[in-house]
Amino acid sequence: MRPNTMTALMKSEPREGLWMHQQPVPEIGTDDVLIRIRKTGICGTDVHIWNWDDWAQRTVPVPLITGHEFAGEIVELGRDVRDLALGQRCSGEGHLIGRQSRQSRSGRFHLDPETRGIGVNEPGAFAQYLRLPAFNVVPLPDEIDDEIGAILDPLGNAVHTALSFDMIGEDVLITGAGPIGIMAGAVCRHIGARHVVITDINPDRLALAARVADVTPVNVAETDLRSVIGSLGMAQGFDVGLEMSGAPTAFNAMVDAMVMGGRIAMLGIPPKPAPVDWTRIVFKALTIKGIYGREIFETWYKMIAMLQNGLEVRAVITHRFPVAEFQAGFAEMRGGSSGKVVLDWG
Ligand code: NAD
Ligand code: ZN
Repeated sequence: MRPNTMTALMKSEPREGLWMHQQPVPEIGTDDVLIRIRKTGICGTDVHIWNWDDWAQRTVPVPLITGHEFAGEIVELGRDVRDLALGQRCSGEGHLIGRQSRQSRSGRFHLDPETRGIGVNEPGAFAQYLRLPAFNVVPLPDEIDDEIGAILDPLGNAVHTALSFDMIGEDVLITGAGPIGIMAGAVCRHIGARHVVITDINPDRLALAARVADVTPVNVAETDLRSVIGSLGMAQGFDVGLEMSGAPTAFNAMVDAMVMGGRIAMLGIPPKPAPVDWTRIVFKALTIKGIYGREIFETWYKMIAMLQNGLEVRAVITHRFPVAEFQAGFAEMRGGSSGKVVLDWG
């Protein structure tokens, strides 16, 4: 009963926008599954692809079905797939890894240099059906519904970053109250940080952060971070920093606000190279760790366990649209003040 065609959101022309098309339902290989998509999240990456900026032009082939944040249900199993069943609700890791590199062969899958992304380099999840290697499938327990399943990819970025360093009793600075920074704030509280300060220059984003998590929002366009350190009764500064804005000024402010020997995890992607004062980083003896994607599959394990154990992030979803109204969804995202926007595929 597999249909021949499906609705998909595509980059079908090399210019601003995405367009809805009828496409063939993907054929699957022996180690793949076919997933019927129920909900998808719109990511900042999808906005870059919509805007067709320099990065997108260099990276994304045209035509391509976009999207990588999804939840759905397995409707076909490749001949060699074991341990998965038809009807299984799932999300999945959108990074498709190779198996040849030293990193992959030692089980550090998230560090494989051959990684390709669904919705970026390979056909993606903004479609009624997605072909995915069975290896990448993450089954969803009943307690995790489809809309939370559809934002596990960015929650995973937040969890991967937040679990990089010991958090118990630590004072944490998160720069950038985008959806990922906000979810990271909720994770830091959940795992036992003491003070969690989150900065932004957009009051809407800071208000959302305070609604989603027990964090101290600071508008750095108006308030000096140094004064916050004093008013919270912190002796020197922040023990852990999570850079989630991609703004070079935010990183520099973070370096200033850290304790001696502090630890910084960097998720944010600066739009272009920017100067860094390494002297301050050396004299403060800071540790800096770059974060890419999610640990495959340890981040998935930990985030699902935390969601089952009371981690609450649903309020970060601010907008829900049927996929026919995808343009309204992208307009919210491009406005820069929304939380997560979820599209419903029916
Ligand atoms: P986002 O763009 O929605 O949020 C970034 C926030 O930073 C915005 O609210 C913006 O107002 C704020 N900001 C701008 N200048 C600031 C400043 N000087 N100080 C504090 N805040 C400032 O992004 P997102 O979707 O939440 O993602 C967060 C970052 O992580 C982005 O840079 C994104 O590109 C990056 N990212 C990285 C990976 C990875 O694998 N490394 C994966 C996903 C996203
Ligand atoms: Zn994403």
